[in-house]
Amino acid sequence: MSHRVLVTGGSGFLGSHALVQLQEAGHQVRATLRNLGKADRVRSMVVQGGGDPDAGLSFVEADLERDDGWAAAMEGCDFVLHIASPFPSSVPSDENELIRPARQGALRVLRAARDAGVKRVVLTSSFAAVGYGHPPRTEPFDETTWTELEGRAVTPYVKSKTLAERAAWDFIAEEGGALELAVVNPVLVLGPVLGPDYSTSIRLVQRLMDGEMPGCPRLAFGVVDVRDVVDLHLRAMTDPAAPGERFLAVSGKVMSIAEMSETLRERLGEAARCAPRRQLPDWLVRLVGLFDAELRGRRPGGVGGEPAAAGASEGVGRGGLRADRAGWRCRRRPAVSPRTLRPVPPRGPFAPPRSLRTRRRPRSPRRSASR
Ligand code: NDP
Repeated sequence: MSHRVLVTGGSGFLGSHALVQLQEAGHQVRATLRNLGKADRVRSMVVQGGGDPDAGLSFVEADLERDDGWAAAMEGCDFVLHIASPFPSSVPSDENELIRPARQGALRVLRAARDAGVKRVVLTSSFAAVGYGHPPRTEPFDETTWTELEGRAVTPYVKSKTLAERAAWDFIAEEGGALELAVVNPVLVLGPVLGPDYSTSIRLVQRLMDGEMPGCPRLAFGVVDVRDVVDLHLRAMTDPAAPGERFLAVSGKVMSIAEMSETLRERLGEAARCAPRRQLPDWLVRLVGLFDAELRGRRPGGVGGEPAAAGASEGVGRGGLRADRAGWRCRRRPAVSPRTLRPVPPRGPFAPPRSLRTRRRPRSPRRSASR
């Protein structure tokens, strides 16, 4: 069945893939851009992903920090994928530069969606709202876990995602009316890029390929392919069991930076000759972390920037319990494929989304999370 769907942040890594998959699924797609001047670039990204820039794709200008444009963007929409949020590769001196647009932007989107009679919003949150600030642990992270904002290594980005998601659930509970909310919490998202601007997660791969890193810090991340993350958004958008749920998007075991670097060298050969081979000593990573904003807050041996015992790293891999129950399966181990930094050739349609098959409704995050 065809719906009208609004995607916020259509110019981004995830957003552009969402436009393509929604089109493939037969929906009418509208995207918000904070600058309409980017519309042609986004059309090219859609073509790069195998979509049709003329098939019912339209654009509206709207900024997360301003009210203008949101009412017009929502008009006539059945669903909203709220993907836009600042995700810079450096840490701002004022954390509110991230927290304000993330939190207030989410509320702006939800309010406008409710007022326009939208049925459901799917919010792109993050593992940043799940697995940070905890003391070392052996038990797995899953959708009932919330980041502890008072804990260590909680960066402004982590705060922005956690506060935005909490605010969204509170809004739905207190003033959402008939509007439904489902949330997707991806770990590090990799996969083919459709345009010239690299998301912060892709920058990690680029830094490895360009030899910007003298060695590999002893860090590991849960990883997931961008196309799988978008697939999960589409399932969360229409499945009757999805409202009120968080869905952790993770492909399997965690991947260390050394493994990513090795995969790049193996698969890309000469193009990845600068990808580092040696492990950086932990003391050096800590020292560099004092000066390097991208490493600040990450502790050697950690998963996704968090200290973690081996069991907890496995736990990240075993996350996504609700998504699994919901019938979502990763297509691939994404991480660093040869195409990660290359435009993806147009592909055929995705397998038709299986309907979500949640047998037992998991506990609502409102009741079960440590909030
Ligand atoms: P990108 O940086 O590629 O995309 C971010 C998008 O948000 C862009 O379209 C950007 O617009 C838009 N945006 C940023 N600030 C504003 C604003 N003030 N008003 C309107 N739009 C704004 O990042 P990703 O695609 O990787 O990330 C998309 C979402 O996924 C984010 O919510 C991120 O937190 C989340 N996420 C990403 C992960 C990853 O590993 N990539 C992991 C987990 C979650 P513009 O083009 O104008 O800058």
